[in-house]
Amino acid sequence: GQLGPASLLGRHRRSRRPWQPQGAPSPAGGHAAAEYLAERLRTADVRPGGVDGGFFQDFGDGYRNVLAVLSGRDPKAKKEFVIVGAHFDHVGYGTWRNSRGPIGYVHNGADDNASGVAGLLEVIEAFDVLGIRPRRSILFAFWDAEEKGLLGSEHWLQSPTVPLERVRLVITADMIGRLRDQTLTVFGTRTGAGLRRFVSEQNRGINLRLVFPWDMKRDSDHYAFFEYRLPSLLLHTGLHDDYHRPSDDVERLNLGGMETIGRLLFRLVWAAADADALPLFREDSFQENSAWQDQVEAVPEPPPDRLGVRCKQERAPDGSVEVAEVIPGSPAEQAGLLPGDRIVRFAGRPVARYPDFRTLLVTAPSPAELVVHRPEREMPLHLRVELLGEPLRVGIVWRTDEAEPRSVILSQVVPGSPADLAGLQPRDRIYRVSGRDFQPDEFFKLVTETPSPLQLLIERDGRIRSVRVPLLPDLRRDDAL
Ligand SMILES: [Zn+2]
Repeated sequence: GQLGPASLLGRHRRSRRPWQPQGAPSPAGGHAAAEYLAERLRTADVRPGGVDGGFFQDFGDGYRNVLAVLSGRDPKAKKEFVIVGAHFDHVGYGTWRNSRGPIGYVHNGADDNASGVAGLLEVIEAFDVLGIRPRRSILFAFWDAEEKGLLGSEHWLQSPTVPLERVRLVITADMIGRLRDQTLTVFGTRTGAGLRRFVSEQNRGINLRLVFPWDMKRDSDHYAFFEYRLPSLLLHTGLHDDYHRPSDDVERLNLGGMETIGRLLFRLVWAAADADALPLFREDSFQENSAWQDQVEAVPEPPPDRLGVRCKQERAPDGSVEVAEVIPGSPAEQAGLLPGDRIVRFAGRPVARYPDFRTLLVTAPSPAELVVHRPEREMPLHLRVELLGEPLRVGIVWRTDEAEPRSVILSQVVPGSPADLAGLQPRDRIYRVSGRDFQPDEFFKLVTETPSPLQLLIERDGRIRSVRVPLLPDLRRDDAL
């Protein structure tokens, strides 16, 4: 396809050849790479986005950013910009400061960051091939001197080539060439409300496993924009042994993985530039970090078993459930239940399978009636039991997340509950209930009143899926006793 691996690096790798003999001053290689990029941009359907009508923005000690603009189609929205950036510099022959060695050999930086540069070129080409324009304009930015301390992106923020107050979102690709376990890290989703959901929605059908850390570090150009209080995302496939060594070379890239990430990058850029609205910067993202994330995503101990028995899991011939153990002090003991008892009815319903019995235990109102057969007793016993805790219709406990206002996070999924049986897990995020978007304060009502089965749109690790949760028919108190 147009975003295929062959096109991804095969044609772009030239820019990373050793451009000059060892020991020559470094700007020559950088300028050759910049010239290569400009050459590519001249044949693409973009206009120069640098200074004096060109693609370049020179600065500092012989550095230059390479900038191009794709104009939006909407007369009004085109005045706004989404920036897509990747640094194209690396560390040359390496020094003891910037190389992990051995130094004195060319460091091609295939992953860091020819991979991100190739991703941007592919996005530009995809716009060409598809012949489509989003509503907003896009600034494609190839930053120089990132390795010297984000010099290129910070220079641009000092001397922007498009109106800075009209920049709505920044997406940076830095090291996207080493996809492992289908896992891509996306930093910065806390910088704008709803960005996690936005990124996950673009991942539909691509289905990468996405990790969303709350930390923001000054380790790539995304940080310069974050400090400037712009919503800012960074795509990254993680560090590795070849990082900042001569061995970070093209043979070790995961080209298929780059193709997949290229598709996601294109979709993100398209969706952001074409969206009705984009989120404002979240001030709170300055305070949020991994410790806070651990708290919000913590999973508390499950509540105690409401009855207090362990049952044999194999099926008895008559379908009843046999009690193996009664926990001392539990409601089961207080009700007089004994090991060896076989439960045939509970809360007004026949007990036919152990999993159904577990589900009944979660959902039954209290008090409830147990009908049991006891060995050597002819007549069944009717026991009244005061169950612990509240009956749960679905079996979930949730919390809200200010950064994702149209969702809830599951903090608990009660074992044996309808939610558990449907495969829901703690930390799943729920985005929709039976086709309806919601605000967190509407969620309780939706979960209590939406008829069975619930159709939940959930997200786990950036993967969105639909989960069907069949509920037990309501157990009214009259049924129970
Ligand atoms: Zn980098």
